[in-house]
Amino acid sequence: MSTTTTPPTVKTRICIISDTHTRVPNSSKTSKCAYREPFPTADILIHCGDITSTGLETEYEEMLDFLKQAKAELKLVIAGNHDITLHEELYLKRLKSKHKNVPEDVGKIREMWMGEEARRYGIVYLEEGTRTFELGNGARFTVYSSPWQPKYFDWAFTYPRNIDRFNPSQGLLKQNPANPVPNHGHLDIMLTHGPPMGIRDETFRGKEHVGCDHLRRAVERCRPRIHCFGHIHEGWGAERMDWKTGRADLVEVDGERVVEERGVYLDLSSGGDRPLKWSEETMFINASIMNVHYRPENAPFVVDVDLPTKE
Ligand code: 5GP
Ligand code: MN
Ligand code: MN
Ligand code: MN
Repeated sequence: MSTTTTPPTVKTRICIISDTHTRVPNSSKTSKCAYREPFPTADILIHCGDITSTGLETEYEEMLDFLKQAKAELKLVIAGNHDITLHEELYLKRLKSKHKNVPEDVGKIREMWMGEEARRYGIVYLEEGTRTFELGNGARFTVYSSPWQPKYFDWAFTYPRNIDRFNPSQGLLKQNPANPVPNHGHLDIMLTHGPPMGIRDETFRGKEHVGCDHLRRAVERCRPRIHCFGHIHEGWGAERMDWKTGRADLVEVDGERVVEERGVYLDLSSGGDRPLKWSEETMFINASIMNVHYRPENAPFVVDVDLPTKE
């Protein structure tokens, strides 16, 4: 008889999308990546940024309509480099030049995402930091979120590649970031716009890995259950990391898996055929629904995972 007690968990369904750029996943394509309507139902819906093309109020309106009608108790959303009006300071200082006519009303846009109306539909817009959520099924889980990624042209939420905003400083230069990624044991889900270095981050054109080195170190340190992101559209897909061997294995996405569950279905729960080993494994998911040509041909991911409960 075992004397060790494992903390109670509850099976929870998460639907993950990214990089909509004011479109929704294309349900009419017959490609193996396409999905069938209706859009998947889940406990949690996650959008990993690049909601729009240039952060126009009209674009947010369209995407908020889509998110409102999506069936999920909680809808977690971060911005990406294209959602420039959500980076208010930079937009007003410099990026409003991308809108040739009238600059957008950043106060109104903020209210659209953070106000009462969005909350009523379960939409929670996340800035950089760590937050804990509770669900009706008893789940109580912690999420780290960040819309920031290494600079690539002049867009929102970017930092120079040599800057580490995710880890407490160890060197002589004590420049501790404002919102570091917590240590292992304190995080269930990591949600960033950009990928970590080396994982689902290879560009189609240069065959270059362009993920962030510092984010990679942070995720190795905190080992969440799931790290989801987008940004590098051509990196769509999932890799299962075994931290003991340091090896990440690509998850095969076959047509059957896609069609049956109206998205790419991954059962990581204890009832599934390959439960995720907490502490030892992380599932990395690049959920960009846009392909490299900005066509919305990639399916959403639908993931069943055990999350800790309140007790
Ligand atoms: P987005 O403009 O939507 O943020 O990114 C679209 C595409 O730009 C990506 O799919 C990728 O091909 C390219 N891209 C984005 N960030 C980088 C980067 O840091 N380096 C390189 N070489 N390409 C990038
Ligand atoms: Mn490679
Ligand atoms: Mn994008
Ligand atoms: Mn992006």
